[in-house]
Amino acid sequence: MNVVEHFFIGWCIAGVSPSLTRRERGIITAAAVIPDVDGLGALVEIPTRNTSHPLLWWTDYHHVLAHNIGFAIVVTIAAFALAKQRRLTAALTALAFHSHIAGDVIGARGPDGYQWPIPYFLPFSRTPELSWSGQWALNGWQNFVITGVALAITFYTAWSRGYSPIELFSPKADRVFIETLRTRFPRRRSAA
Ligand SMILES: [Zn+2]
Repeated sequence: MNVVEHFFIGWCIAGVSPSLTRRERGIITAAAVIPDVDGLGALVEIPTRNTSHPLLWWTDYHHVLAHNIGFAIVVTIAAFALAKQRRLTAALTALAFHSHIAGDVIGARGPDGYQWPIPYFLPFSRTPELSWSGQWALNGWQNFVITGVALAITFYTAWSRGYSPIELFSPKADRVFIETLRTRFPRRRSAA
């Protein structure tokens, strides 16, 4: 799955508990995206690809360096250290991280048909690698459906709880967004 899809799935996982703070929601959402840092090698690979010394950092390291249990442990410990509600945040962070791994295994087949098997047990073991024969393409309709559901949940929780992922970038812009949303879809007044 792509970064945007991972992001919204992570945000939905962060929404499991309304007691979390903005910072904790940010940590959990980041954990759903962060494995793709190992894709940044593309920034080196693409410019050097056709030179005499190509650095194939993307080909060699994407889905390898950060898509594994070792990195999951590091990220979970970091979440535990950074959060106030430590155990809850760490548990949801681990879940968000693995939603990324699962998303890539089930829905990230490349345009060339390559499955990008994931050596999940690194750095402890190079095998087995995770892949699934039913894997759909990165741009498959299933990913659109999953993203649509995650977006619907995101809008609903924004409307009902009063915050959206925009808060991670600008709390002020988030307030404007929530106000607009609630003006457009007013809440029913309760009888009391
Ligand atoms: Zn990934």
